[in-house]
Amino acid sequence: MLPRIAIIGRPNVGKSTLFNRLAGRKLAIVDDTPGVTRDRKETEARLGGRAVMLLDTAGLEEAPPETVAGRMRASSEIAARQADLVLFVIDARSGITPSDRAFAAWLRRQPAPVLLVANKTEGRGGGMAAYEAYELGLGDPVAISAEHGEGIADLHTTAAELLPEEEDEDARTRDNRPLRMAIVGRPNAGKSTLLNALLGEERMITGPEPGLTRDAVAVEWSDDEGKVRLVDTAGMRKKARIIENLEQMSVGSTIAALKEAEVAVLVLDGLLGMDEQDLRIARLAEREGRAVVIALNKWDAIEDRPAARRALTDVLTASLAQLKGVEVVTLSAMTGKGVDRLMPAVRKTMERWNKRVPTGELNRWFEAAVAKHTPPLADGRRIKLRYATMPKARPPTIAVFGPRAEDLPEDYRRYLVNSFREAFDMPGVPIRLHGRGGK
Ligand code: GDP
Ligand code: GDP
Repeated sequence: MLPRIAIIGRPNVGKSTLFNRLAGRKLAIVDDTPGVTRDRKETEARLGGRAVMLLDTAGLEEAPPETVAGRMRASSEIAARQADLVLFVIDARSGITPSDRAFAAWLRRQPAPVLLVANKTEGRGGGMAAYEAYELGLGDPVAISAEHGEGIADLHTTAAELLPEEEDEDARTRDNRPLRMAIVGRPNAGKSTLLNALLGEERMITGPEPGLTRDAVAVEWSDDEGKVRLVDTAGMRKKARIIENLEQMSVGSTIAALKEAEVAVLVLDGLLGMDEQDLRIARLAEREGRAVVIALNKWDAIEDRPAARRALTDVLTASLAQLKGVEVVTLSAMTGKGVDRLMPAVRKTMERWNKRVPTGELNRWFEAAVAKHTPPLADGRRIKLRYATMPKARPPTIAVFGPRAEDLPEDYRRYLVNSFREAFDMPGVPIRLHGRGGK
């Protein structure tokens, strides 16, 4: 199933011309007579570097349903409802009309992200018409000339951000695929012991000396919930090398493992607590957008457990706000105590990482969050935030739209991210936020 892209707009704004431009073929009939594109046409095309199914629709017209125009409108509406992305085309030469406004209002309530496309801007620069178009509440328009092929590269780039994630990450295929997990942590934290405990058999060698030579492992197993694949993990493939190289080596292989994994279990040596090296690994996981679960290991050997827990919470609060509320599982890889709580915590975190918030719900949160704290000034001018979309999960990614939204200062972004994390219960999950605005 390719993502479906619906081209919507009132008659004669240039939908068919855009369709042909994107399809690279003359499939739709282009005509000066309004409403000449009667039927929905569709074709495979590429948008933003992705294969998509492109739908040309009959023009949107406000008309009673029993008329031809009314039926055309109905079919456009169906296309919009089923689309993964709507390209809402307006005619920059004729300006915004009341029916543009009516359909914009309707589109804002639809689940699919909408990209506003201002057509017929040839020779007039991109910024033109943009201001008026903001009134539609659909964010920054992409200015193009479908007929002359101007602005099309821009359109591709912007659409790429809004397209749903790649098909191979689709939930249906995901169900049959093993969960990809990395076990990361500094040497001697107990990663190999933990893996053995998870597997319930002595498949790996563990030993007290850091830097012990071990072979690379690729392990897959199943539990009640499904398959788990352990991706190549730092510290488990320490080759016999000189010791100075070890740290560097494990950073490199940790990054490699994180790139491959969906979720990282960060194993801490409970006797030592979380130190700078552990923080660095956690930040790498954050940077790679991975879900994180902390295994606080060697719990059997810890005398003051409340103090050990407190110490960890303090470090996390002070140094790793992004991982606020991360799942922490106290366990003993050696005795096996608590190990059974690890995979449920991993799956819970994965669910959050996979979560998509429907656009309506997202915007109810967004409006409340923005009302509570209005965005600050940037260069003395107010940043107006209009609406938000969630173009992808894994990790959860929010796009906020409005004039100058790209200039949002860091602390306001953090405010939005934290508010989002709280509102939708996503602790321990890195969240991305993109501001998309005007020039
Ligand atoms: P549709 O009814 O929305 O599918 O619109 P069409 O694609 O049939 O285009 C309607 C008219 O607008 C045609 O005469 C096109 O040649 C013209 N048109 C389309 N794109 C552009 C453009 O970028 N610039 C100008 N000036 N005219 C355009
Ligand atoms: P790795 O380098 O992270 O793979 O760590 P290992 O799994 O090789 O463990 C390092 C050392 O810590 C070994 O001596 C283990 O026996 C010990 N160890 C691992 N887990 C535990 C645990 O839960 N409790 C205690 N007391 N020792 C542990």
